Amino acid sequence: MERKGIKIVKGNVEEIIEKLNKALSDEWLAYYQYWIGAKVVKGKFREEVANELSQHAGEELKHAEMLVDRIIQLGGTPVLKPEDWYKLTNCGYDAPTDPDVIPILKQNIKGEQCAIEVYQGLSEYLKDKDPISYYMVLEILKDEIEHEDDLINILEDIS
Ligand code: FE
Ligand code: FE
Ligand code: MG
Repeated sequence: MERKGIKIVKGNVEEIIEKLNKALSDEWLAYYQYWIGAKVVKGKFREEVANELSQHAGEELKHAEMLVDRIIQLGGTPVLKPEDWYKLTNCGYDAPTDPDVIPILKQNIKGEQCAIEVYQGLSEYLKDKDPISYYMVLEILKDEIEHEDDLINILEDIS
């Protein structure tokens, strides 16, 4: 049956789904970068940093869930293969090969700054096209700004 919820979208639905899938790929990579970072991190304030990284990992996973649900609601197929995360990602993945707290924090700050740019761009793109995705992206953007702020504050406390 035709879905009114999809019909009201003014933009190109396929293009919106494609952009949401790119963001979904970013979220999975961000999730893993935080999750594994929390496991391997060493040095000053290790426990405090690990707790913050774990908390952020959980929030990135929540973003992935929001994006997947919206993609499916729009009649799209979410990324099904992890290998496609690398093909679709906007922000990439920074492996925490140096487990010291400082480089780990810096890598994740860089990731958040990229995410902020991506979601800011996405919000502008969606604004007059799809109010539901627009609203969702603003919620995610709010979290990413909080993440950046949290990490910079910890980095400044340590330095
Ligand atoms: Fe996120
Ligand atoms: Fe984040
Ligand atoms: Mg936090």
